[in-house]
Amino acid sequence: MGHEYCGIVEEVGRAVTSIKPGQFVIGSFFASDNTCPNCQVGYQSSCQQAEFVGGAQAPLLRVPLADGTLVAIPDVPADDMVPSLLALSDVMGTGWFAADAADVKPGSTVAVVGDGAVGLLGVLSAKQMGAKRIIAMSRHESRQKLAREFGATNIVTERGDEGVARIKDLTNGIGADSVLECVGTHESMMQAIHSTRRGGYVGYVGVPHGVELKGEELFYAHVHLHGGPAPVRRFLPALIDLVWKGKINPGKVFDLTLPLDQVAAGYRAMDERRAIKTLLCP
Ligand SMILES: [Zn+2]
Repeated sequence: MGHEYCGIVEEVGRAVTSIKPGQFVIGSFFASDNTCPNCQVGYQSSCQQAEFVGGAQAPLLRVPLADGTLVAIPDVPADDMVPSLLALSDVMGTGWFAADAADVKPGSTVAVVGDGAVGLLGVLSAKQMGAKRIIAMSRHESRQKLAREFGATNIVTERGDEGVARIKDLTNGIGADSVLECVGTHESMMQAIHSTRRGGYVGYVGVPHGVELKGEELFYAHVHLHGGPAPVRRFLPALIDLVWKGKINPGKVFDLTLPLDQVAAGYRAMDERRAIKTLLCP
């Protein structure tokens, strides 16, 4: 909790060279040097110096490895752009990684398992990458509406084996080229694998809770699996550019804004599914 942040730099440490006070910056939930071998191939969330960044639900935050971790935006943004910039810190970057890991290409048929902020932004990412059909799996009306706004062409309300059957119905019995798994349960992971066509890709970004994969089942599924903690830092410059130019508006996932001292009410609203995502203002 409290690992998503953006804001104005107040002070920098002695070793910091590129980040300056007064800049508006965004960082990911993993601090990274952006120079080690893992960073250089785009896996900054596995940086050799990676450090988890938490405690961001506060008026001030200390960000380690500032030069590697933070990306400054061109200027201080207008207030109405801040939600979209904040979304880049995790949910948008993670949704983008899910689509990237699932090899979404122009013309692809994509299915998205999970209708939380990450799943919805996975829909937006697939749309940006040129997917032709995007099937969002959701049973909540407000989330279905936002999924459609972000580019979903079909909605599937069923889950598990029934959900898989619906995806097969929609794809001539073949399955989707790319499936984004944005939940992390055993059921959602199996739903993703079974919804993928032979030779297709699953991008999984849901933190696993009790997922167990059987070797034999994987062997015969014939799908590519790639995922993990999203290397959000890799995507920040390109995503900042898309937001800055008004091409994407991922901040729409914030449907509740509260002052920082009402943080508990924000979590309660998300827990009770009255809110997709809460934005806290210090
Ligand atoms: Zn590194």
